[in-house]
Amino acid sequence: MARITLDKLAHSYKPNPSGPGDYALKEIDHVWRQGGAYALLGPSGCGKTTLLNIISGLVTPTRGRILFDDDDVTGRPTEARNIAQVFQFPVVYDTMTVRENLAFPLKNRGVARDVIRRRVDEIAGLLDLTRSLDRKASNLTADAKQKISLGRGLVRPDVAAILFDEPLTVIDPHLKWQLRSTLKELHRRLDITMIYVTHDQTEALTFADTVVVMHDGAVVQAGTPDQLFDRPAHTFVGHFIGSPGMNVLPCRVDGALATVEGHPVTLAHAYPALDAARVELGIRPEFIRLAPRGAGLPVRVRRIDDIGRARIARVELGACALSAMAPDGVALDGDEASLSLDPSRIHVYADGRLVAPA
Ligand code: ATP
Repeated sequence: MARITLDKLAHSYKPNPSGPGDYALKEIDHVWRQGGAYALLGPSGCGKTTLLNIISGLVTPTRGRILFDDDDVTGRPTEARNIAQVFQFPVVYDTMTVRENLAFPLKNRGVARDVIRRRVDEIAGLLDLTRSLDRKASNLTADAKQKISLGRGLVRPDVAAILFDEPLTVIDPHLKWQLRSTLKELHRRLDITMIYVTHDQTEALTFADTVVVMHDGAVVQAGTPDQLFDRPAHTFVGHFIGSPGMNVLPCRVDGALATVEGHPVTLAHAYPALDAARVELGIRPEFIRLAPRGAGLPVRVRRIDDIGRARIARVELGACALSAMAPDGVALDGDEASLSLDPSRIHVYADGRLVAPA
């Protein structure tokens, strides 16, 4: 097992990259703690798979280094890195039994027979594959085949890390929850660094202790699910995480007072003078109270969506559209209402980045 360090890592698929737009990854510095459960989360095309493939050695970065503990492995092939990787689609040998498939990565490394048997039995038990051990893989469903792929990744006790690239894509939706919690349980028991790529925030937040959020080839924040929710370091993170995401409102800020669409908004702290092209307030819908017309910011209610667990109001404050939670039993007078914002939950952003109070 190892700590994995990315040192100024950049990658372009173009032979002669010139500008930042030519790079799939742009100078990433990040440390993956030994034994951590990580999710690598971001929208399609932000560079997650490229980063994973650089860690495993399938792709050599254009610039920068990758270290396992203090060992520079940048130019080393996958076989020499001691990494297990599980892909979106199952990689199994159809002609082998489940037991032979699970044993393969150990047999290949010359592990003793009785050790292999014990380890295969343990992993099969954890993945609920025990009853299928003697069946040929070709006779199994796509779900079971992907479980075998997971098992082949997990079976090696000595790996530096296991990398999962959207491993539950082919899994039946009702089994996803179950497998995700199985993986979490396996992480607790096996204490192996796991990096789980996904563009699904629910998958990321339920699996990981630390979620690493990527946007446009860069890591924009790494933190616990609570940190990402409570203190998004970038407007992108606030917007991407949450359902609906954080509201981002253009504003002016003067000390502890902001002005949004000509209306004053009190902040919990004073801020330094901001010299930025864009200054914005961020506040999550959960911390905005919608009330009948009265004190507060005057808004027009465009729509209220009942999503079962909550009612979400889509409102307009001047030219700004935002979301707010609509408490049950609020009787609105026509479409006019007012909003109150919890000052302790308002964040200030300059050019997309979180600003610390003065
Ligand atoms: P997804 O969730 O859709 O898999 P991702 O976040 O994993 O996306 P990558 O697959 O790493 O993103 O792609 C990052 C960028 O690099 C994208 O613009 C993609 O088009 C480009 N890219 C990826 N693989 C190659 C390749 N083999 N050759 C050229 N460009 C590539």
